[in-house]
Amino acid sequence: MIIAIDGYSSTGKSTFAKLIAARLGLIYLDSGAIYRAVTLFALQHGYIKDNVIDTPSLEQDLVAGKVEISYNRDNPEGRAEICLNGVNVESRIRLLDVSNSVSPIATLPFVRNFVDSLLRGYGPMGVVMDGRDIGTAVFPEADLKIFMVADAKIRAQRRVDQLVAKGEKADFDEIYRNVLERDYIDSHREMNPLRQAEDAVVLDNSYISVSQQMIWLGWVLKAKFDMDF
Ligand code: C5P
Repeated sequence: MIIAIDGYSSTGKSTFAKLIAARLGLIYLDSGAIYRAVTLFALQHGYIKDNVIDTPSLEQDLVAGKVEISYNRDNPEGRAEICLNGVNVESRIRLLDVSNSVSPIATLPFVRNFVDSLLRGYGPMGVVMDGRDIGTAVFPEADLKIFMVADAKIRAQRRVDQLVAKGEKADFDEIYRNVLERDYIDSHREMNPLRQAEDAVVLDNSYISVSQQMIWLGWVLKAKFDMDF
């Protein structure tokens, strides 16, 4: 089974996806983490300076196989953590420098092709994958597609809370700007922009809790697959 969860940034896709995966015995994979790892690679090599991307150098490295990204599930909780060239960068890729540059990087067609082929390889394992174009481009044949939306200010506050909980600095205005900017770039890029697949079910979780979301999912699975959840 493949479940595709797409939506705007910080709509709680990963929290929801992890719970669904655990409940249905599927593997949870965060596609945004791969775009973030590519972005970290570009930052580490000085390929992003003053918001300008050195596209030829990044493309050359991707073609030459200098960027190895994999999900590591070899930890006690079996969580899928991202490794970039053998180093676990799961925490590093969540910091604001990566968040600020990831959406422009994700507009580049050669980056999208690189990430898509990596992601498609995981389909046969049975996955819950979250991202922006999973139901529209990566797995258009997914068994269930969920499209998540929520008020932008609520999403920014969620991101602030996550960073604060990790002991990081978090400025609401800066994060709110980043959320709006990423929404715009993600939904306006030429290749595989963020949009709701025609056969997706929409979930607005601005004012509902995670446990209410699970009840909602139970209704969806019953209606769509006659499945008791
Ligand atoms: O999900 P997350 O916010 O970590 O994703 C980081 C960025 O990666 C998104 O803002 C988006 O620009 C890009 N992305 C994408 N397609 C995906 C997943 C993420 O373009 N399937």
